[in-house]
Amino acid sequence: MKVIEFQEGESFDIELEEDLLKRNQQLAQANGQLLEKHGILAIDVMGSVGSGKTTMIERLSSRLCQTKTIGVVAGDLTTTIDADRIVEKGAQVVEVNTGKECHLDANLVGKALRELPLEKLDLLFIENVGNLICPAEFPLGAHKRLVVISVTEGPHMVVKHPHIFRGADVVAINKVELAAPMKVDPEELKKDVLAVNPGAQVVKTSLVQDQGTKDVIEALGLMAGSGAEA
Ligand code: MG
Ligand code: ZN
Repeated sequence: MKVIEFQEGESFDIELEEDLLKRNQQLAQANGQLLEKHGILAIDVMGSVGSGKTTMIERLSSRLCQTKTIGVVAGDLTTTIDADRIVEKGAQVVEVNTGKECHLDANLVGKALRELPLEKLDLLFIENVGNLICPAEFPLGAHKRLVVISVTEGPHMVVKHPHIFRGADVVAINKVELAAPMKVDPEELKKDVLAVNPGAQVVKTSLVQDQGTKDVIEALGLMAGSGAEA
């Protein structure tokens, strides 16, 4: 079969794209400095639509809210459905509706940071737009990247999207309770993640049952009592 491979530099608007990514990088650095100044640890939560990003933030917030003041930047194309769910967990939430944009960028996150009581926060979750491709290209100034995947995305989802896993600190393989009916082996997914990123911490979760949440907290270095020093 004939396969056409995209070559680096082949895109028509390559200069425009480079400028955009460079500008994003600068703004991400500024976000990072602002967060450091306030002693806030920020986590960029990435993954497909329906993988469990919002549930992950809900579960983590429920467990950590006794010891930490939590903020959330919730990215979504048009709705506040997810933000509303997280507000119920007592976090300070800012919704960012990206319209047609399929990822958050550092500029949007910078705007959201201006709306949050940074002096009060210890921890910030940034729920990225449900997409496995471009969020990887746009650093936001977060300290860590958590990628949530689900066994319902099939057995090949990691090998098909290596970029997002290369930059991940922690990968949660979610909905493991559905592994058998989906005929997907979570161990195989884990092997695929470690093949592209041997340094990643991989955790299996069943977030509807609140299973594995503690392991994610440990993997992110968010043990009770620790703040941005984690
Ligand atoms: Mg969500
Ligand atoms: Zn995008």
